[in-house]
Amino acid sequence: MLFSAGPCKSAFQVVCRASEGRYKAWHERCLRGGGRIIRGVNYSRQHTIGQSVWCSGVALHCGLKVALVLKPAPEDHGIKFLRTDIPGCSPIRARYSNVVDTCQATTIGAAGLTVSTIEHLMAAVYGCRVDNLLVELSGPEPPIFDGSAAPFVKLIRKASIVEQEAARNYLTIRKPFTVTKDDSFIKATPCDEFRVRYEIDYPHPCVGNQRYSWSLKNGSFGAEIAQARTFGFLKDVRKLQKMGLIQGGSLSNSVVFDDHELLNTGGFRYADECVRHKILDFIGDLALTGLPVLGSFTIRKAGHELHSRFLTELMDGKGYADIKQLEFESAYLSHEVSALA
Ligand SMILES: [Zn+2]
Repeated sequence: MLFSAGPCKSAFQVVCRASEGRYKAWHERCLRGGGRIIRGVNYSRQHTIGQSVWCSGVALHCGLKVALVLKPAPEDHGIKFLRTDIPGCSPIRARYSNVVDTCQATTIGAAGLTVSTIEHLMAAVYGCRVDNLLVELSGPEPPIFDGSAAPFVKLIRKASIVEQEAARNYLTIRKPFTVTKDDSFIKATPCDEFRVRYEIDYPHPCVGNQRYSWSLKNGSFGAEIAQARTFGFLKDVRKLQKMGLIQGGSLSNSVVFDDHELLNTGGFRYADECVRHKILDFIGDLALTGLPVLGSFTIRKAGHELHSRFLTELMDGKGYADIKQLEFESAYLSHEVSALA
């Protein structure tokens, strides 16, 4: 299983420029041979990106133009967000316990600082199996781009993915459990792969009842999920705008319906694009476990708030999950090699 990897030398140069001691130490270890370009995928090891990449765009809720830089990070660093518009602040770890708001998006925060609407970027990071990454943002929210995770996947692929020395931990579901709210639920069961079955039911002629089953293998994230855009209804726009939300929303970054039809002239990317985007959102929130997950998830009509409750139940020592290292003999879970159509 080969994929094109950029020159790891670039990553070294990037961390060279970083003055932080931790990055410098990692750089020195890389030079001694600890970091190497991945040519085959070893799912037992952690991964980061091979070089820094950046882009900019409008953020969905705050409406600001924000610059985004993805930087390589050392082993066991995890995914962290750094607000470069706030001098001297510390990075915020992308972790379920740092979730501070789930209204219309997932927001993490620490020490009074927040980063909002992280779920599409987190889904791309998870789908590309990147463990360690520093995300620098010049504002409180990543750019929304086209409302999907595909631009982030392309950015990560441009940076290339490199293998690191440290073993990767997996989170596995040990026993079934369910969280519910009204007629919504998330059920987790043990499984030797990562599988999601999702059902939505909107009383709208263009959406209605949609179901989709998906599992992470052989580039399936890029092909089936990453390109599904966020969606909303025109009747909710004014109320959300009054709440200070969707200030950057437009038909170029959202699928929007009036009472009868789809307003985007280009139509859907998939006939069932809405349910696929709900899977994308779930993956992005599940990434806040900080680990790749093996389990089967059956979900009906959930959202960020129920995702957050589910993660707390999953992670907070109730015996529903194990954390362990696994050996994979074959290309069982693939990087996003050629997945984007
Ligand atoms: Zn979304």
